[in-house]
Amino acid sequence: MEQTLIIFKPDSLNRGLVGEILHRFERKGLKLVAMKMIYLDDDILGSHYFHLKDKAFFPVLKRFMSSAPSLVAVLEGVNAVEVVRFLVGSTKGYEADAGTIRGDYSISSQCNVVHASDSKVNANIEIYRFFKEDEIFSYDKIDLDFIYSEDEIEK
Ligand code: UDP
Ligand code: MG
Repeated sequence: MEQTLIIFKPDSLNRGLVGEILHRFERKGLKLVAMKMIYLDDDILGSHYFHLKDKAFFPVLKRFMSSAPSLVAVLEGVNAVEVVRFLVGSTKGYEADAGTIRGDYSISSQCNVVHASDSKVNANIEIYRFFKEDEIFSYDKIDLDFIYSEDEIEK
């Protein structure tokens, strides 16, 4: 099944929002298959946010993202990349729709509580940027038969 990377950014740890946000992903039916706490250093942020390196806010973004630990995690499910981006909402907290994670928990263009991979190609790159193969778990989750139809589980 499809996998995607999420990051609980330093603001979600400092604000005590990790449990609530993770709960939303779990309630949706997404399966947690990897998770760890790390400090994102300059090197990893340079790769992860390479597409933003020329933006004026890039140094501020790097300072924010390394100001406290982050939790990186892999979620699995049918169309996981698209589903998770949909739950997370648009980038700027003050524009994100109510009901989305960013819309409900953030009001900043930077401190927007979570990162989520934006395409299948990037999800694959991002997952292996943070995790080794043996840190991603394969296990039978007992509720899967009721989250998906019989033919969806095969995917
Ligand atoms: N960001 C920022 N200022 C902006 C736009 C983005 O500080 O004007 C930060 C914000 O934390 C965002 C991250 O840069 O989540 C990555 O930006 P991207 O455009 O990739 O948005 P995302 O994929 O996170 O929605
Ligand atoms: Mg992005």
